[in-house]
Amino acid sequence: MNFCFTVDDVCFEGYSTEAHLKHLLEFLGDAGVRATFFAVPLAQGVPLTQRLGYIRVLEQAIADGHEVAQHGLEHDRFEVGIPPEMILALPHEGPARERLAKDREAIEAALQVDKIRGRLAQGRRIMEDALGAKVVGFRAPCLQVCDNLFLALDAEGYRYDSSRHLQPAGWDILNGKESVAPEPITREMFRRLQPPGNLRAIPLTTEYTWYLNRERFALTLNLAKHDAQACITAGIPFVPICHVSPIQAGDPDAGFQFYRELFAFVRDRCADRDEPLSFVTLADACQTLS
Ligand SMILES: [Zn+2]
Repeated sequence: MNFCFTVDDVCFEGYSTEAHLKHLLEFLGDAGVRATFFAVPLAQGVPLTQRLGYIRVLEQAIADGHEVAQHGLEHDRFEVGIPPEMILALPHEGPARERLAKDREAIEAALQVDKIRGRLAQGRRIMEDALGAKVVGFRAPCLQVCDNLFLALDAEGYRYDSSRHLQPAGWDILNGKESVAPEPITREMFRRLQPPGNLRAIPLTTEYTWYLNRERFALTLNLAKHDAQACITAGIPFVPICHVSPIQAGDPDAGFQFYRELFAFVRDRCADRDEPLSFVTLADACQTLS
């Protein structure tokens, strides 16, 4: 199985610091895990080309075998699509909820293919100038999507998109829902999410370590084990999502301990089935999709 560890919000103020990014890379290095880092090209109006500290860390990450991919343009909530209900329901998304209720018509009118292509290309250019490396993958901020996004990504020649999700239950837990039932994950779901054209979709499962505390630890780890097992059975990549600072800003060590236990679980499950296990970037997983 391909285990694709992914990290969102690199450079995005409030959810990322250089120190947290370095610490996360040390954790992954110790665990022998290669990952994909989604960076915001124009966070807080500052292009990545001017963030020299982040550039140094990301260049080293690429040299170590990780991938850096694109996370929107400015991380506006509606720049390439509209986030799903469960994301807009999160406590900190009040302003986005109000904006959508007030401006839905204008927001939808701005989601034309040529406009989205312009935003994608602007962000990609900034990232490639900053890192001197080609960007081949995309994940939209807050899982915002629309049909035109996939047409725009394909037209711009991206190899893969990882904006869609297979498992809403991680957000059900964060939204405090009383009963949280994991959705089944199947190869058929993966197949149905593939867009037309050359673009490949590599959907994520869910977020497990958003300010993780000890209270939610066991419930969330059981969900992650369910999802990993389902991906092994379905023969599709397992793609959890975490965020640079939130994985480290819950109860002390909870986020990293969570993944140490999950890595061990997946190693055992794959060994039981005599199935090879690789911790790879999304770009590498994309190459192996049939
Ligand atoms: Zn984000």
